[in-house]
Amino acid sequence: MVDLKGQYIKIKVEIDNAIASVIDDTSFIKGEQVTLFEKELAEYAGSKHVITCGNGTDALQIAMMALDFKPGDEVITADFTFIATAEVIALMGLTPVLVDVDPETFLITPENIEKAVTSKTKAIVPVHLFGQCAEMEAIMQIAKKYNLYVIEDLAQANGSNYIFNNSQTKKAGSIGHIGCTSFFPSKNLGCFGDGGALMTNDDELAKKIRSITNHGMTVRYYHDNIGINSRLDTIQAAILRVKLKYLDEYNKARNIVASYYDKAFENISWLKIPKRTDWSDHIFHQYTLLVEDGKRDMLQKYLQQKNIPSMIYYPVPIHRQKAYSEYGFKDEDFSVTEMLSGKVLSLPMHTEMTEEQLKYITNSVTEFKF
Ligand SMILES: *Cc1c(COP(=O)(O)O)cnc(C)c1O
Repeated sequence: MVDLKGQYIKIKVEIDNAIASVIDDTSFIKGEQVTLFEKELAEYAGSKHVITCGNGTDALQIAMMALDFKPGDEVITADFTFIATAEVIALMGLTPVLVDVDPETFLITPENIEKAVTSKTKAIVPVHLFGQCAEMEAIMQIAKKYNLYVIEDLAQANGSNYIFNNSQTKKAGSIGHIGCTSFFPSKNLGCFGDGGALMTNDDELAKKIRSITNHGMTVRYYHDNIGINSRLDTIQAAILRVKLKYLDEYNKARNIVASYYDKAFENISWLKIPKRTDWSDHIFHQYTLLVEDGKRDMLQKYLQQKNIPSMIYYPVPIHRQKAYSEYGFKDEDFSVTEMLSGKVLSLPMHTEMTEEQLKYITNSVTEFKF
């Protein structure tokens, strides 16, 4: 699905030097590279503050800790996504309120969000799934109307631009009150282990977030907040400083792959190519097809026989997960997610794909007979 080795080889000298210099310094925790990466990512993302942390899941948790949510508070998020978002809501003793998504963009919709707002709602966590931003302008309007916080989950959308009605653009993560992201190796901006970050334009919030990531300290050994220990290693920051320079190029390479796939599949009646919204870039963290006529599992088996990897993101919607049964979610409230989990199939998508690989994959799919 990805080719991390191929990507590394192309920038091996730069990466190896960056790692070696951290080892030389032995400043493994909170070294200078961390501060520099935070500055550079803040500049890139158009966000005033970036605070790094241990991983994307921690970023979401830290955001909810910083906003002082209390048990029983409700947080609205998408049903069709990776578990992390709902997981931290539940872990914090908050109530996850799942909403259904759009059948074509796979994204949480403003309409479904507004229907789920109650007097207990404190926040909305839109997930910028597969590389496209959720409809942020409308989501921010709902948040304003009901006095809610918006925490963007941009783990799959580092570098994606949101396009406002007036044509102004902003980077994913810089629009809501807090943006949370991940540098898991396979993400569009990935490090060589776990990593994550929060971004915000609010000075006070930034201070509190920074303190929470480091045991609630601002001054050493004075604990003003109950915090956690969640930091980005200096080695990872040094790697990310190198890779951030290539992020736009990487996202462009993903788009070239997506266009190739689109062209090959657009006239196949039982395949639906991923829809592009008019309010966001698509940076194709995943290239996800809808496979109609009940052919999905057969197609996946066939591809496997041809040594072509494919993945189902996500096979079981959150509302059906065993660990979340106590919340009493009802299948009929999630008809789109139910449909999607039976039809989606993601194809190999990365920055190093060759024409030969693309030809083999697209020819194989095109020749598939049910
Ligand atoms: C990867 C991911 C996360 C979690 O990131 P980790 O760094 O693996 O903890 C959260 N949300 C979404 C949508 C993700 O894809």
